[in-house]
Amino acid sequence: MDLKGKTVLVTGSSRGIGAAIALAFAQKGANIALNSRHELTTEQMSVIKACGVDCIGIVGDVTQDAAAIITTVMTHFGQLDVLINNAGVTADKLLVRMSSTDFEQTLQTNLVGTFNMITQSLKPMFKQRAGCIINLASVVALTGNIGQANYAASKAGIIGLTKSVAREAALRQVRCNALAPGMIDTAMTMKLSDKVKAQIETEIPLKRFGQPQEVAQTAIFLAENDYMTGQTIAIDGGMTMY
Ligand code: NDP
Repeated sequence: MDLKGKTVLVTGSSRGIGAAIALAFAQKGANIALNSRHELTTEQMSVIKACGVDCIGIVGDVTQDAAAIITTVMTHFGQLDVLINNAGVTADKLLVRMSSTDFEQTLQTNLVGTFNMITQSLKPMFKQRAGCIINLASVVALTGNIGQANYAASKAGIIGLTKSVAREAALRQVRCNALAPGMIDTAMTMKLSDKVKAQIETEIPLKRFGQPQEVAQTAIFLAENDYMTGQTIAIDGGMTMY
């Protein structure tokens, strides 16, 4: 896919990995719809527009506003070529302290939110007979993690969802893949103490956290390569190579 002039929607793109992905697609000439639950700032929009592309900010929660988000994209741009399901949350707790509400809330945003966005996007993509969906999973979907049963389950669900969407949508030339980042330097991992971060770094073969831009490069690769579907690519400094 040549990304120039295409429309790309990135959920949860006010910061971190989502913001880096949005910028990378803008640098390829794609028009961008940013999204988060809070108002996007003029500065966030200007960074994208400085690439010479169109950009809108859509306030909406993927758990309840998926239809409205897609309607706004279609009304403004008239097409939706790439959907990046990036919005995600963590709510870490050991299992003995995790209530069913803690479990359900994380699944609601990460997994159900992704499902909502996909089902709404498939309508215009099927009509276009073209489209690309990229879902943000995580290495913990592959390995599990202490204190992250809710998060790991939501991200493992995303991998199964990705493969099922890829199978159902392939006949209409819509592709669906997942990215499984390891430890990436964002607000999400800033919550960890320096001691915990240093310990994690010793366990990463490349001995450092990844940068959001490195995840964004892989998203570009998945969007541009028309023969990739149903795959999960780990981008994790070697954490899951064993
Ligand atoms: P951040 O916490 O930095 O950013 C999350 C983004 O999602 C924000 O823009 C936030 O904005 C938005 N968001 C959260 N909930 C919703 C919602 N219900 N509807 C719409 N937007 C929402 O996260 P990262 O950039 O670190 O992570 C991005 C994705 O990558 C997530 O899916 C995460 O699970 C995944 N990931 C991250 C890793 C890491 O190490 N950082 C590792 C593996 C995977 P607002 O709060 O304003 O809504």
